[in-house]
Amino acid sequence: MQDDRFLHISILYVEDEPAIREGLQRFFQRRSGTIYLAANGQEGLELFEKHRPDIVVTDIRMPVMDGLTMSRKIKELSPDIPIVITTGHNDEEFLLKAIDVGVDKYIKKPVDFRDLMKVILNLSSAVLYRRQLEQQNKFLREVMDLNPNFLATTDGSTCTYINDSFLSFLRCTGLEDFRLRYGSLENVFVTKDDSFYAGKNISEWIATAADDRQTSRIVVMKPDSGAEDDETTFILTVRHVPGKREYLLSFADVTHLEMEKQLYMILSMQDPLTKVYNRKKFFDELEKEVERVQRYQQKLSLIMMDADYFKNINDIYGHSVGDKVLINLTDLIRKGIRKTDILARYGGEEFAVLMPGTDVEGAFEIADRLRNSIASYDFPVCKEVTCSFGVAEFAETDTIDSFVQKADIALYEAKSKGRNNAQVFEGGSFKCSM
Ligand code: GH3
Ligand code: MG
Ligand code: MG
Repeated sequence: MQDDRFLHISILYVEDEPAIREGLQRFFQRRSGTIYLAANGQEGLELFEKHRPDIVVTDIRMPVMDGLTMSRKIKELSPDIPIVITTGHNDEEFLLKAIDVGVDKYIKKPVDFRDLMKVILNLSSAVLYRRQLEQQNKFLREVMDLNPNFLATTDGSTCTYINDSFLSFLRCTGLEDFRLRYGSLENVFVTKDDSFYAGKNISEWIATAADDRQTSRIVVMKPDSGAEDDETTFILTVRHVPGKREYLLSFADVTHLEMEKQLYMILSMQDPLTKVYNRKKFFDELEKEVERVQRYQQKLSLIMMDADYFKNINDIYGHSVGDKVLINLTDLIRKGIRKTDILARYGGEEFAVLMPGTDVEGAFEIADRLRNSIASYDFPVCKEVTCSFGVAEFAETDTIDSFVQKADIALYEAKSKGRNNAQVFEGGSFKCSM
């Protein structure tokens, strides 16, 4: 009986009778397999630990350690190992114990080597199949460990695998170290208000993320010893492992993209010269504030201001001096208003200040104070710059447009009254600051 499978498997044969032992050895070695021989359970156990053979064949009654005690110890070390016992005619009393140990096959003594070979060959198929799976798994793990994306598998509560790149981000030496230090993945996640996992337990959000494959979910993670700026943003993909209560999580680092996105967002609402809000952002904010006014009956005022004779400054001193004046102006305005006020560059040399919770009197006072601080400021190069101001309060009957228009009309009035002054729109009549 020649079979390829013999070439790839190793056997531990434990038998106290030298004649039987050597007989099998000769029989097996003619077929080129690897065989380890032991004369009792103790020797067998030692050989098993040293060589980790694929299949164990053992006698029951032996000196020092019997075959079943050895089998139990071997199954503890390696639960999947196939064990075959050879039983004599008076070994029945051991059979129940053998079932308990989880012995796979029984062969009657005296052993017919050909029968034994058949049994070994059958078991070899399972052994070889398992070995092939293990090799595939090992290969997959290597692929996963080499993957720059962070990968982990979890049963929903604990992690069953974490790849090397993820471990090094977490500053962990292995899975055990991770479990000791973090316990669960949740303790690596930084929770923000809009995090999709906020307020959910880990198995809940994993299940929802696995369900809808389309959405890429943003996760922010930070190692336990890391500082604030070690926060890293990832896109998380979750896949259910078929046939198992297990999920594969893959995290792709998108910190740079996320930062770029934020940068674009800032750029889209910021005036590049003065770094205050641009006109578009002003109207976005105005819309929100008007909604709030209507809902909570709060006060809302608006100051529109425009630099006087600004064209002259450009003409006399040049455009770059004009630019610096605009920057100086925003600094002066910022110092004169509250943090909750919204300052925007409305046009070339025109600014808007939206003042939530402020009535027209309060806004007028601030406008006049701003006017004064600008007029008395010693500007580099051009020395003197003045501004005109129009002030309006949002009325119940106002729309966004009519509100802005009121402030504009008041500003126009301030210009026509000789500039460097503040005017309040009061239903057609104007209150003058000078
Ligand atoms: P008024 O008192 O009536 O407002 O007179 P003005 O000269 O300020 O008004 P006008 O609208 O005639 O001119 C505005 C000038 O502001 C013209 C334009 O070149 C200048 N300006 C607009 N934006 C900028 C800018 O970003 N930088 C500089 N340096 N000048 C600007
Ligand atoms: Mg002007
Ligand atoms: Mg203007």
